[in-house]
Parts: sequence; structure tokens; C-alpha cells
Amino acid sequence: MPEIDALLINPVSARMIPAFVPHGLLYIASFAIKRGYRVAIYDRNVESDNLEDILKKFRPRMVGMGCLTGTAIDDAVVVSRRVRSFDPSVKIVWGGIHTTLYPDSVLKNDFVDFVVVGDGEKAFSGLLDVIAGNSDAIESVDNIGYKDSRQIKFTRRSFLNPDELPQPAWHLISVENYLRRKFYADRVITINTSRGCPYKCSFCCVPRVHTGKWRGVSAEKIIENLKYLKENYKIDAFQVDDDEFDIDRARVLKLCELLRHSRLNLKWSHFSRINIAKEEVLKIENECGLRLVEFGVESGSPRMLRFLNKGQTVEQIINVYSMCKKLKIRASALFMIGLPTENNDDLAATVRLINKINPYISLCTIYRPYPGTELFDYCLDNKLFNYNDDLDKVGAIYAQTNNTSEIGTRLLLRVKSYFDRRNILNEILYIITRFRIGLFIY
Ligand code: SF4
Repeated sequence: MPEIDALLINPVSARMIPAFVPHGLLYIASFAIKRGYRVAIYDRNVESDNLEDILKKFRPRMVGMGCLTGTAIDDAVVVSRRVRSFDPSVKIVWGGIHTTLYPDSVLKNDFVDFVVVGDGEKAFSGLLDVIAGNSDAIESVDNIGYKDSRQIKFTRRSFLNPDELPQPAWHLISVENYLRRKFYADRVITINTSRGCPYKCSFCCVPRVHTGKWRGVSAEKIIENLKYLKENYKIDAFQVDDDEFDIDRARVLKLCELLRHSRLNLKWSHFSRINIAKEEVLKIENECGLRLVEFGVESGSPRMLRFLNKGQTVEQIINVYSMCKKLKIRASALFMIGLPTENNDDLAATVRLINKINPYISLCTIYRPYPGTELFDYCLDNKLFNYNDDLDKVGAIYAQTNNTSEIGTRLLLRVKSYFDRRNILNEILYIITRFRIGLFIY
């Protein structure tokens, strides 16, 4: 007799505390709990317990694994094989972005019984209904793939309204392991308030994963979640971790209004797009606790911005950063170097732009082609990158630096290291000026 119905596992992507909140698993768990199932979460990024000990303790009838493309797949493969050899009767389900993009190549492995494509809440609970014998109609469970004799079959894809979901099952994780210290607060939790994005940046998989749809949780429901987090975990700030938070301006303004009247007294930050940022909205957000906004600057080269289909110009970027300075809102910049076709002139333009806008944090990434993106297809077509969707190979591909640009790898590493050091210096300067000790981790 199983102790629990489902064990949701977050494979190792980066073992560190504070860790990234496994938002997807928290929602899948709360939905299943509401349907009467017993669920536990095992986050291998923060928990040191041995997998077999966890399996002995919980004896789940189903294990769910969510992961991104990258090195986490290595761990997900190892875990799945160990679960299978521990108890072959346990059903193993894979979900998450990589599975949504490559359901066939995941499902063909003998250590995977089912895949979830897209929204996982109803799909996972629907599978639990089937496994627990509460339903025998697997074909009626949307968003899944399964094996029928020798054939792989997929059911209909449907999209949830995230506003109808129960609040995340925070009680299943040790929230202390996910609280960050930032310049604006000491107990910052990340929350997720929407899914998808209507834009089509060529390096980003979100448009394909969510088929261009954007769906948001209502401002009222966000506040309910924040109240719970403040009461139970004493958070003093939150960071919105959405793909694209501020698509719906009315929702943003409503959230500000509710924050103002809630007396929660929380600071916050969010990601935004340059073309969406408006002075009047940022001003209101700032009055309601916003302390940091993070923009995808991506490149300082007009040619590269067009190539990335970013929908923003260098001039717009400069204007938005000076607007943030005027409003006294700190603004960070995320940008990439080493993009396909990028040359030394493009790189110099990016360095010039970042130095000019002087963001609070300059998060420099050396580009890697990710599946499910136009740029990934471009790299494959132009033989800039070798990819193998065999699950045993994917992790190794992403464990190395893949230089797809016309710039030397040593120069890319030097530029990245320059910005990394500058960020550390900024943090140290901030600590000194505020007479505070401790390391703020971005
Ligand atoms: S990078 Fe951001 S704005 Fe562009 S498609 Fe992805 S989520 Fe949307």
C-alpha cells in the first residue's frame, strides 16, 4: 500500500541555497491535493536525502519529474533509472519544458511511462485517477503522451486558466531554502503570476512552449498568495519570476492598488520588456514598493536586435534606463554575447551600450542554442551546433561552452568575466555604503 500517491522530483540543475523555487511542481501538487491525493516534493537541489531512502519512506505509486533542457536532464535520467530499479511498478511521468518540446524522444525511453505536454496540473491528476483506478479513460486526459502496445499516442492539448488553480503547495517545501537576500529586502521569495508570452524573440522557447498564449493570475489571487507567504514565512519582499509579467497593464495597476491598500508593506521586483515600460506605470509601481526592474537588453548592436526579433531599438533601451534613473528605480540588464553571426563590432556595441546605461546588475550570458527556438533551428541549419535529442547526451552538450558566433571564445570569456567582476564590485560597494554585512546574491 503506497504511503503517498505521487512524489514530485525536481532534478539537480544547480545545487545551491537559496535555490530556485520549483513553481511548476508546487502548482501540480496543490491541484492533486485538492483532488484528494497525497503528494510530496523532493527537490534534489536543496535536499541531501538519498533517493532510495525517500522512496522507502513515501512508497509513491507515481513519480513526476519536471525539467528544463540542460544538465538537469542528466540527473532526471539517473533518478528515473533508480526509481525503476527500486520498484518497477512505480509509474514515471516526465513533464516540463524539455518534455513539452520533445515528447516523443522522452517517451521512447523505457524508464518513462507517461509524458505531460504543456500545463501539467490537470494532466498529472488525470493520470493519478487512471493509476489509482478511479478512471480507466486515459484518452480523456488532456496534455499527455503514453505508450499503447508499440505505439506512442498523444491526447488533445488544452490550456488552463491559471487563475482557477489553487495556490501553490508551499507547505511541501522548506521555504527557508528559497528565500533570497537582495539589496531591497532580506527575505525575498520568487512567485509566478503568469504563463507564456505573445512576443517572438528568436532565442526564446516560451512562444513555442505556450504557443504564443499569455495567461495571468488575477491581482486578487496574487495578493492572497502574498498574504499567506507573509503570515507563514515572514517574507518582506517578492520577485516576480514570470516569462512576461506586465503584458496586461490593467492587472499590473490593480496589483499596485491592492498592494497599496493591503498594508503588506512588501518590496518587489519584476522582469519587463523595454517596449512595454511606461513612466506612469513604473512610477505607480515604485510608490507601491517596486525597487528593481530587470530588462532583457540582449544586445547593443541594432543588427543583432533585429536578428533576435527583439522588437526594441538601442534608442528605446537608453531612454528606458534614463527613465528608471529619473524615477530612482534600479534597473538590471540581461544580455547575451556570442550570438550566431555576431562579430567583434557587434560585441563592442553591446559593451558600449551596457557601459552607457550602467545597469545595477549587468547579467552577461554567453549564448547557447536552446531547443524550441528559431535560433536553435538556425544554428542546426548552418551547422553551428551539434544536437542530439537522446536524453543520455543532452546534458553533456549543455555542460560545455558552445561558441556559435564569429568572435573568439577567449574574448567572450574575458568580456563575461569583466561584467561578472563589475557586478561583484557593485554589490560590495552597496554593502559598504549601507554598512551592512553579508553577501547579496543576485
Ligand atoms: S524573451 Fe521574453 S519577451 Fe521575448 S519571447 Fe521570451 S518571454 Fe517573450
